[in-house]
Amino acid sequence: WVRRTEQYDTQALQALDSAHFIHPFTDHGDLATRGARVITRAEGVYIWDSEGEKLLDAMSGLWCVNVGYGRKELADAAYQQMMTLPFYNSFFQTTNVPAVKLAARLASLAPEVDGRSFQHVFYSSSGSESNDSNVRMVRRYWDLLGQPQRKVIISRLNAYHGSTMAGASLGGMSGMHAQGDLPIPKITHIGQPYFFENGLPGESEAEFGLRAAGWLEAKIVEVGADKVAAFIAEPIQGAGGVIIPPATYWPEIQRIVDKYNILLVSDEVICAFGRLGHWFAYEKFGYKPDLVTFAKAVTSGYIPLGGVMVGDRVAKVLIEKGGEFNHGYTYSGHPVACAVGLANLAIMEREQLPQRVRDDIGPYLARGFEKIAEHALVGVAETCGFTAGLVLVKNKKRRERFAEALGVGMMCRGHCFQNGLIMRAVGDRMIIAPPLTMTHDDIDEMLRLIRQALDLTQ
Ligand code: PLP
Repeated sequence: WVRRTEQYDTQALQALDSAHFIHPFTDHGDLATRGARVITRAEGVYIWDSEGEKLLDAMSGLWCVNVGYGRKELADAAYQQMMTLPFYNSFFQTTNVPAVKLAARLASLAPEVDGRSFQHVFYSSSGSESNDSNVRMVRRYWDLLGQPQRKVIISRLNAYHGSTMAGASLGGMSGMHAQGDLPIPKITHIGQPYFFENGLPGESEAEFGLRAAGWLEAKIVEVGADKVAAFIAEPIQGAGGVIIPPATYWPEIQRIVDKYNILLVSDEVICAFGRLGHWFAYEKFGYKPDLVTFAKAVTSGYIPLGGVMVGDRVAKVLIEKGGEFNHGYTYSGHPVACAVGLANLAIMEREQLPQRVRDDIGPYLARGFEKIAEHALVGVAETCGFTAGLVLVKNKKRRERFAEALGVGMMCRGHCFQNGLIMRAVGDRMIIAPPLTMTHDDIDEMLRLIRQALDLTQ
């Protein structure tokens, strides 16, 4: 098909943008002075702006585009479905073909652990909505079991679970809580398993993992075990800075949720669909969630779709005891989104992307990051599957952090942005989550651009 060459009036677009578009998570005073970069097209692992500048997208859009840009198959799937049945609701005893097929496909991809399987899917259009649905389902579950006092959901500081009232409350971002009078009632938080920040002098990573998991038990006891409904966590904290827990963390969390019989929600909006080398990330860490949130890469971001994998324990109660569940969205099971989801999963399967992350590009990236870790400005650099994070430090030997963490991260991000790389800053942590289709050459180029940005930041 014909690709548009850059013929945009950038300044006019920026003026319209500034006049009419409220961006998410953006300081508009700052944006108005710089002008938003207008992204116009994409292909493979690259995006282009309205001035014709090319950028290597090491963030897959926003942890979404796992199969890379420009996949005609996904556009074809959307077109075909729009011409066949663009929309119909699934509320009143109707369903549609792509939604049924995708639910069955997702159920077949979610691994069974110790006899617990995922046979059911609840659809939404985003990660935030899915986590709102989790809150509804978790509380409904305990109501139906005659334990309505079990309402409290425990989450973690620095977690990101979305931007709706419940999503932002489950999340542990202090900046978000401050602006919305959040969290909403009966949501509480424990510390994050971030060894670089919270490990004690002389404490091993393994010891720290057990101590960090112990914060969950302490919170359950503080709240009262009979009041706790669920614990929600990302397998690794993504938006919080790619915080990878020690190996001891998840097994201990599993022991604790089992001991107190509370539900475990695995928010895999970032981690599922190959990012960590598996279809679902709980498989990598070996724990047994009751609910799994997904979104983003289920369609590689080509169209909005999210949902919850509902494990047998919860599904059985909701379906057999529940009667009508008064919850759902107009777009739950949207046929076009589900058709794109099916086509996207077919690409991932054909190109064996989870396996590719596990056996090829994940280890290749890890070796590259070992070298990045040697840079004078880097306190620690770590990877998990095909995502990575590094900490910018003022003094490497003393592991001394910058007083202005945000400033140094933004400076480094700015150098990336100027030099053709999309890398994200989370305080003083720089993070990447590139498309799973990257070649070794793409990875080498990305590492070169990261090193260049680090050199310029010094
Ligand atoms: N949960 C996690 C772990 C996420 O990373 C995100 C978004 O980054 C969300 C939920 C929210 O998803 P959405 O932005 O699609 O609402």
